[in-house]
Amino acid sequence: MSRILIVEDEESIADLEKDYLELSDFEVDIETDGKAGLKAALQGNYDLFILDLMLPDVDGFEICREIRAVKDVPILMVSAKKDDIDKIRGLGLGADDYITKPFSPSELVARVKAHLTRYERLIGTGAPKNEVIEIRGLKIDKTAHRVFVNGEEVQFTTKEFDLLTFLAEHPDRVFSKEELFRRIWNMESVGDIATVTVHIKKIREKIEFDSSKPQYIETIWGVGYRFKA
Ligand code: CA
Repeated sequence: MSRILIVEDEESIADLEKDYLELSDFEVDIETDGKAGLKAALQGNYDLFILDLMLPDVDGFEICREIRAVKDVPILMVSAKKDDIDKIRGLGLGADDYITKPFSPSELVARVKAHLTRYERLIGTGAPKNEVIEIRGLKIDKTAHRVFVNGEEVQFTTKEFDLLTFLAEHPDRVFSKEELFRRIWNMESVGDIATVTVHIKKIREKIEFDSSKPQYIETIWGVGYRFKA
């Protein structure tokens, strides 16, 4: 049975959506404010999200962005204002569908079913799923050689990508600069170890919110670097 999370502050609308979806055998949870909605979305195991745009605390934009940074499941955005729908569509937040209120519950159910079918086809019998590493807001798609920070794609050189991926695949382990140089540059460590330092600096500038207080790659003084799990 597919599980759906509705984040909607108008409880009568949320209840109506839930009733209709349950009639179609979906398991449905409701959150009525943005903060609780975001928490449930990131922690729960849902197959699809229905997000109202205007919510208390955290709006639907932000919830969509944060879900998309870590999950590929369908997201349907709902808003009372057509203008808002046009605006969020333009932002490319990664939502799969946009619905303007008022809408008929049966239309909503039809769209939910269509998106779930499409998604299941995509991850099921279709092409093999990309190998993806996801750590907090950082997403490394190894197959496609792409990196996303909080849902936004960031460009990496080949060596930066290899170094970041290597560290992320071995969290909580300290590697010396010599070892990283040997592994990533694939040479016996006769080259310039400073290359590693330069690359770590560039990676931090791309993935860290504040490079002077790294949340991902820590410097272990006198030893090397460690990726925080
Ligand atoms: Ca609302």
